[in-house]
Amino acid sequence: MNPEGPGPELDRLTWTEVRDAIARDAGVIIPVGATEQHGYHLPLSTDVVLAHALALAVAEQADVLVAPALAYGYRSRPLSGGGQGFPGTISLSASTLIAVLSEVLGELIRHGFRRLAVVNWHYENENFVYEAAWLAHERASRSDARILVFENPGGEPSDEVMRALFADEFPGWAAEHAAILETSLMLHLAPDLVRMDRAVDDEAPRRPGYDIVPPPDDLVARSGTLWKATQATASKGELAWAEIVRTVTDELMSEFATGDPDTR
Ligand SMILES: [Zn+2]
Repeated sequence: MNPEGPGPELDRLTWTEVRDAIARDAGVIIPVGATEQHGYHLPLSTDVVLAHALALAVAEQADVLVAPALAYGYRSRPLSGGGQGFPGTISLSASTLIAVLSEVLGELIRHGFRRLAVVNWHYENENFVYEAAWLAHERASRSDARILVFENPGGEPSDEVMRALFADEFPGWAAEHAAILETSLMLHLAPDLVRMDRAVDDEAPRRPGYDIVPPPDDLVARSGTLWKATQATASKGELAWAEIVRTVTDELMSEFATGDPDTR
């Protein structure tokens, strides 16, 4: 984006600026997060903050707008998000999430965007964001739009990042909630939002290899932190973030470059 210009956030533009972005075939990213507890030390907005920051970081290098983030996600599950019992966790059912996201994608396609991306930062949203993209494409009046779905942006970190983050032990990504990675990223990106003096190491009393509905109390970590938040540092966050931004930016730019039906 032009550094002198109004920036990449779609809702800060005028309609004529959006029209011009569509005319030059700019892409658009929708960040998707959740309003979900993240322990004693991180805000409910953590997943939205990270999804939005990632979209903005990509927009520094790629010609993409960033649509308003979807701040509500699918139901928090005890073994990956602490569950629905924590005050302030506000979630959608799967069908509502799919409906909202697919309709937003449909609106962007209707206006002429052809290069779309969903950047998700909430474990429980996976699959549902893919379904939303599928339905939006199926229902679109035009077939030249493509939607990249980053369910788990950046994918598996490099060995270097894994060693830096989890020198001790890696609990699996589901348990990495409000723990080392997310806390480190927030310390790097939004330190004002982190109450690091309240961070704890915690885990659910029991982590079976299946789920239980309704969730019994012993599947819920009391603090809402599912692993070791005290091991988080801003420098771990900086290292991990650089890799995530680089990976997603490269993937998006190369897909959008090859995705043009006119140049295929
Ligand atoms: Zn999170």
